[in-house]
Amino acid sequence: MSNVHELTFLKEKIEQLKKEGVYRKLPVLEGPNEPEVIMNGKKVINLSSNNYLGFANHPRLKKAAIEAVEKYGAGAGAVRTIVGNMSLHEELEKILAEFKREEAVFVYQSGFNCNAGTIQAVTEEGDLIVSDELNHASIIDGTRLSKAARAIYKHSDMDSLEAVLKDARNNKKYKNILIITDGVFSMDGDIAKLPEIVELAEKYEAMTYVDDAHGSGVLGENGRGTVDHFGLHGRVDFSIGTLSKAIGVIGGYVAGSRTVYEWLSHRARPVLFSTSLPPAAVGAIIEAVKMLMESSEYTDRLWENARYWKEKIGNLGFNTGHSQTPITPVIIGDEAKTMEFSKRLFENGVFVSGIVYPTVPKGTGRVRCMVTAAHTKEQLDRAAEIFEKVGKEMNILK
Ligand code: PMP
Repeated sequence: MSNVHELTFLKEKIEQLKKEGVYRKLPVLEGPNEPEVIMNGKKVINLSSNNYLGFANHPRLKKAAIEAVEKYGAGAGAVRTIVGNMSLHEELEKILAEFKREEAVFVYQSGFNCNAGTIQAVTEEGDLIVSDELNHASIIDGTRLSKAARAIYKHSDMDSLEAVLKDARNNKKYKNILIITDGVFSMDGDIAKLPEIVELAEKYEAMTYVDDAHGSGVLGENGRGTVDHFGLHGRVDFSIGTLSKAIGVIGGYVAGSRTVYEWLSHRARPVLFSTSLPPAAVGAIIEAVKMLMESSEYTDRLWENARYWKEKIGNLGFNTGHSQTPITPVIIGDEAKTMEFSKRLFENGVFVSGIVYPTVPKGTGRVRCMVTAAHTKEQLDRAAEIFEKVGKEMNILK
């Protein structure tokens, strides 16, 4: 008989991962997240970070982080509701609200936490959550933590969404309905049909919740996000962003009304029961938001690089799907071939992660290229040459 403390049941599962060819070790980065990195001892062009604007190792953010540590210390020391809410946290929420052009912002320790905490806090038994089928895992988990009923609509399919809403309202059994969508879908780079979603929400008296993890710092004026991009201020109830991707640090937030802020400050469980963001992170984030408010230099460069890369890689004959944002999938199809492509790219000097089932549907395996504002044209040219070489060697390109 197996001894439960030897965790045999987990060892067996790990063996199964190995048999399926999906076991892996965590890759190790020796230094900051930059356009070129040393990964697992090898120097490679990095085409896989969410560091859209190159802020993760920006001198201004690092200086602000150091100053915040000197003034406020290394850790916050408590949850925000006890003695962990420093004037620095308040300053961050104020500047973020100004940037987002919303009444108030409530900050969490991560984007994941934000979805996990907010969805359950604003819904209850008798409500209905209506979610796009391709929404992020943290939305799925946040929904699971809620006592509300749930329904899924087909990806960005407004007929499917309307059918769910009509049925829910005809049934008349639900109190509040909350429609949740990613602003930018992280695996394909397509933008949610937010104007249509908002119209349907208004027609069926539903609330709207947009997770703009990949739209913040990318879309809208100076990176104000998808709501700003579509001019929908005041018509989206919960506008979520991360501070870990374009902003380059860590954290998540909800932008919306003062009412949203007040309720979450009483009921957002990750904030009530987990220590607040450390001063270094908060100081760096404030600096990043200031930099975005000062100029469009970073977002302009991101888009210029993204267009350059898409054109280059598309002209070579790769299938880049239907992305509308800097996220550029290169669709290979077969799972094993996708992983082999990623591996061979790495051996030749480019790191770009392979994404396969179950993260994306079977047969749509892809490497997901993330170009940043910090890449030089020379780095992108070099990466494209490697894509061409490996693509030809593997018969992906003719
Ligand atoms: N939402 C979406 C759509 C995301 O892509 C991610 C990050 N992968 C998150 C939320 C979580 O954000 P964070 O990394 O800040 O926890």
